[in-house]
Amino acid sequence: MTYFIMKRTTIFLLWVFLIPSIFASVRPDSVIVYDYFSGIKNNESLLNQFFRDMPKGGDLHNHLTGSVYAETYFKLAVEDRLWLDLDTGKLYPTQLAAQKAGVVSPVQLDASMSNLNNLRRRLLDLWSISRFKAFNSVLKAGSDFFNAFDLFLAAAGAHLVELLHELKYRAAIENVQYLEIMAMSPRIGADEIDRFFGKGTYEKDNKALEKNILGKRTSLTHSLELIYNRWEKSKEMAKMVKDYVHLMDSIDVNSNLVDVPNAPVCLYQTYAVRNADPLRVFAQLYLSFKACMDESNSRFVGVNIISPEDGDLSMKYYRGHMEMFGFLKKKALKPVKLSIHAGELTMGLVKPEELGSHIRDAVYLAKADRIGHGTDIVFEKGSVSLIHDLRLRHIPIEINLTSNEAVLGLRENNHPFPIYFKAGVPLIISTDDAGVLRTSLSEQYTLLTLRYGLSYYEIKKLVRNSITYSFASDEKKKMLLNKLEVEFHRFESRWVDNIAIMKQWDG
Ligand SMILES: [Zn+2]
Repeated sequence: MTYFIMKRTTIFLLWVFLIPSIFASVRPDSVIVYDYFSGIKNNESLLNQFFRDMPKGGDLHNHLTGSVYAETYFKLAVEDRLWLDLDTGKLYPTQLAAQKAGVVSPVQLDASMSNLNNLRRRLLDLWSISRFKAFNSVLKAGSDFFNAFDLFLAAAGAHLVELLHELKYRAAIENVQYLEIMAMSPRIGADEIDRFFGKGTYEKDNKALEKNILGKRTSLTHSLELIYNRWEKSKEMAKMVKDYVHLMDSIDVNSNLVDVPNAPVCLYQTYAVRNADPLRVFAQLYLSFKACMDESNSRFVGVNIISPEDGDLSMKYYRGHMEMFGFLKKKALKPVKLSIHAGELTMGLVKPEELGSHIRDAVYLAKADRIGHGTDIVFEKGSVSLIHDLRLRHIPIEINLTSNEAVLGLRENNHPFPIYFKAGVPLIISTDDAGVLRTSLSEQYTLLTLRYGLSYYEIKKLVRNSITYSFASDEKKKMLLNKLEVEFHRFESRWVDNIAIMKQWDG
């Protein structure tokens, strides 16, 4: 009897102590990492360390010139011996160009200048928001941000290959598998239109658009139709599309990383610049759609529209721009994906009545596949049903936390992230202009966790979204998602070891 009692006790003890410890030893790596992450959610340094290493999938919202750091622009400007306005920090390609712009005594940059280092520090300050600290600074919604682009632009144009190389290299270092970059827009304006279609055509067509864009919808469609049909027959416009596609090919190929493991897959969005004449915007959108559909194209995967949304012309013609997207999407013979900067506004930046419908128009008129920023959602009319529709239609919002704070002064609960998140709208974390904002994709995840306390599994879901909702082909997406899972597996196994090492520091 005693024997039996002892035996049963032994079995009981086995159940209590041994079997759970067997289970404990086979806890999946992801659970161990989840637990560790839950304990560091409020620790900025430990989050930086963690996210620096974590695979981050894709960065789907980033602008080439704004993503390059000012140090690179300074180096290129010195190499090219550009001219500088010492007062403003603006670069000019030639002395004449500077003088024409009213700069009294421009200075030519040169590697042998004695004060080069001081100059460099001053320009880094002007060309980026280098003093901006995302966690504790409230910058006034700012012209500083958009002004910075104008200052260093003269150093960018001739060096797209070098700029792109920097982005690809940073992605490889940061464990980012995919980039969808807004690299350059089609170069078309009054000169080209008049050369292709006869002098005065630009002014005449632009006037018609200006008038009809603010009038009846049918009149606008009629105007767009007339212009579109003329462009469709133009050999010059067709050649512009081909040249644009080939230029992007050559820049991409020449900027590829050599001998760097884990080079990212890189695809591109083409775009129009919105704060311009309606005809110019339409021409850029037309060429953008055509480039995406061109049989020789393999790199352009979507169309966007950029530049400050609160600009005079951007606001005046916003609805017309969305109609242009809708018109071209209908005309397209192949599906063309759209990501649209929409609702990058907030109270105080424009008149309250102008906050009512930008996201709505991007969804229903332009038929956007993704929305960039979407920060003014709570000010839109019928915003609850609109948010619900974004969820039902699986239209993701590209969240750019540092950018929204620097440009719009939005952070913490002032930012709509928690609303979108709770509603189940798909979300993607991106950088927008990492160079000007002096941030990185890793830091965006740190910021997200500090502010909104997401769990490791919720973060993983956002990372997967950045591939699932990319504009890469289904085949590429499948390859990237598989690669991402392999990277997560490696990452978690690495971090189980790291966590074990850190445990030794406890005692
Ligand atoms: Zn942007």
